Amino acid sequence: MDTFYVIDGHVDTVTKLILDKRKFFMRSRKGHCDYPRMKEGNVKAALFSLYPMNTLKSIIRGLDLWFQFISNPENKVIQVRSLEDFDKVFNSEKIGAILHFEGIGGIDSDFKFLRLAWHLGLRSLSLTWSDSNKFGNGSRFHGKQPERGLTPLGKDLVREAQSMGITIDVSHLNDPSFWELHEIADKPYIASHSNARAICGHVRNLTDEQIKAIQEKKGTIGINFSMNFLNPGKPGQANLKIGLDVIKKHVDHVVNLTNINTVAIGSDYDGTRVPRCVKDPSKFPSLWEFLLNNGYSKQDIKKISHENLLRVFKNSWK
Ligand SMILES: [Zn+2]
Repeated sequence: MDTFYVIDGHVDTVTKLILDKRKFFMRSRKGHCDYPRMKEGNVKAALFSLYPMNTLKSIIRGLDLWFQFISNPENKVIQVRSLEDFDKVFNSEKIGAILHFEGIGGIDSDFKFLRLAWHLGLRSLSLTWSDSNKFGNGSRFHGKQPERGLTPLGKDLVREAQSMGITIDVSHLNDPSFWELHEIADKPYIASHSNARAICGHVRNLTDEQIKAIQEKKGTIGINFSMNFLNPGKPGQANLKIGLDVIKKHVDHVVNLTNINTVAIGSDYDGTRVPRCVKDPSKFPSLWEFLLNNGYSKQDIKKISHENLLRVFKNSWK
């Protein structure tokens, strides 16, 4: 089978490595991502998320972990800060790491830390995790959903981040925040790791209207491998036996509502529990093979696996 390179839109590996007490450069049975398993799945780059960034202390701790991660030569990772850096990654054995903040409550109201973080390589952010902060409201996993969306400061931050060339990520936002962000987005934005709510009715997933809205701004939706957000008809329920056909259902739904240019990958590896069929990134080739055998072309797979996300970076990193 052809080799399909992958740019994964969301992994939580940097902090998970510490929790699991494992090394990125060594193949492990714990967690999901390490160099050998990513290499086996032809993963060329990923948005390596730092979470939670709710206080200045957590931002400093996260960035310290980040620079330990990328500066260790044994990890064979290079930080991707520009489109040119992707060329380097595609022509090397190294894996590209794009710095992403998931939930940014720790950023000050004058955006000083936002500007500093940009200089340190921040190229993507989501305003909230599934909580609330001074910038806006995220969707809750349980209980009542917050009725409010973005705050005025949150809208200012979106404008500032867009003008700096940081890609905005709407995964985890609640519905009012989503729509307010959509209104002011003048660059393509991403739902880095969210699925279709019509297939799996979880609030972390996207409604049909939201899927169409993302396409309208030429953004992408990264299919999330979390069992909780895949499970058809049983949102939030784990089932290790969920198959590649279910992942395809979510892909099909987004393609049918929009087109092939909207689908990407946001595995959520090292941040969630995933079914056996995609147990770690070494399984990417079997997903591509399944899609190839079920109506998708090689060109389609290239778009899903990396080209669509790369296009969004091209159009939102200034
Ligand atoms: Zn997440």
